[in-house]
Amino acid sequence: MSSEKRTGPARALRCRECGHEYPIEPIHVCEFCFGPLEVVYDYDWIAARISREKITQRAPSMWRYRELLPIDGEPKVGVQNGFTPLVYAERLAKALGVREVYVKNDAVCHPTLSFKDRVVSVALSKALEFGFDTAACASTGNLAGSVAANAAAAGMDAFVFIPHDLERGKVLGAAIYGAHVVGISGPYDKVNRLCSEIAGRYGWAFVNVNIRPFYAEGSKTLAFEIMEQLGWRAPEHIVVPMASGSLLTKVHKAIREFVKLGLVEDAGTKLYGAQAAGCGPIAEAVQKGREIIRPVAEPKTIAKSLAIGDPADGFYAVRAIRETGGWAEAVSDEEIVEGMRLLAETEGIFTETAGGGTVATAKRLIASGRIPKDASVVLCITGNGLKTLEAVEGTLAAPPVIEPNLKAFDALYETLKARRKAA
Ligand SMILES: *Cc1c(COP(=O)(O)O)cnc(C)c1O
Ligand SMILES: [Zn+2]
Repeated sequence: MSSEKRTGPARALRCRECGHEYPIEPIHVCEFCFGPLEVVYDYDWIAARISREKITQRAPSMWRYRELLPIDGEPKVGVQNGFTPLVYAERLAKALGVREVYVKNDAVCHPTLSFKDRVVSVALSKALEFGFDTAACASTGNLAGSVAANAAAAGMDAFVFIPHDLERGKVLGAAIYGAHVVGISGPYDKVNRLCSEIAGRYGWAFVNVNIRPFYAEGSKTLAFEIMEQLGWRAPEHIVVPMASGSLLTKVHKAIREFVKLGLVEDAGTKLYGAQAAGCGPIAEAVQKGREIIRPVAEPKTIAKSLAIGDPADGFYAVRAIRETGGWAEAVSDEEIVEGMRLLAETEGIFTETAGGGTVATAKRLIASGRIPKDASVVLCITGNGLKTLEAVEGTLAAPPVIEPNLKAFDALYETLKARRKAA
């Protein structure tokens, strides 16, 4: 693409393996080596247009960093998405035995309560620039709801493909927007493979297939916000949940971009990945010192949103973790539920299973000394607990039911008091 034609910051798509460059088009794989394509930018163009002052004056959404997103014109989809709270989590820090914890709370991301609203906002804005009228995705749950909602608001038709056994909250949370929801009998990797074939035949904007290079860039905004909200500082330690590994690699890219542009100083940020024991292929590669990911054929975990057995960005996630001196853990379903309850009980934040895994991973890293006790840690909480009620249903006692009179409550209160004393 000639630079005369360019109106935005994106310069080209580049193969992450062989470096071959392509014009900005709805493609995602290198023709020469089948490597994944990534958006590359003109940082001189960006540096001339971005500053802390300019960013802070803009509306509180993920689009305040628009010079670092691969859109040419005005964003058309999800203009209010993002800019979620960064919570100073004193009580959680104490429980985890570390000096300082911040919780980036994408459990309340607008409009579908997960960080996927960031990637979808960029993917569909770009899809409209390319001229698509139908949005689609292969999803482990949250992406389905986000594509469905954001497509509805943009007046696009939507097809979302999911493993047949997802949580009710995820399925209904996509269907409500009028999207065509299709369950596939098989794990996510089979869903994804089928979607590659459908994308080739039907010519839709599959946000995480043919639009994937643009989609992935949306994840950077989570880290941009964290750095701004820390007072224009890069985090020391950051724990990120991993499914395909894309979010973690983009957190890495975002930090390097802010450093390159002089918006923050290099803090030597260490990246840590969180996965579930029943599907932890990236964590396994990190722990065994391997670069090659050994796929998990049959993921078995309550963290369904992270259950990708053959993660597309796994190799790059391993590299980012290793390069920064971080680590990864794969935690059990019991630890995930414990993590969900700990975050809820200490900070009043109800996260889904993926967030429970992130808290549990931080707990392990601090207990083992990989994250020192005097450190400052950011936890990326990426989804909402109301969508995975199944995970905690059996672990919490049903509330007692009493007669509507004071005597009944007095009696109940005495038993509660006695129980608390015994515990
Ligand atoms: C999709 C998702 C992730 C991470 O996804 P990547 O494929 O690694 O980018 C993390 N948390 C939740 C809740 C998700 O839905
Ligand atoms: Zn290539």
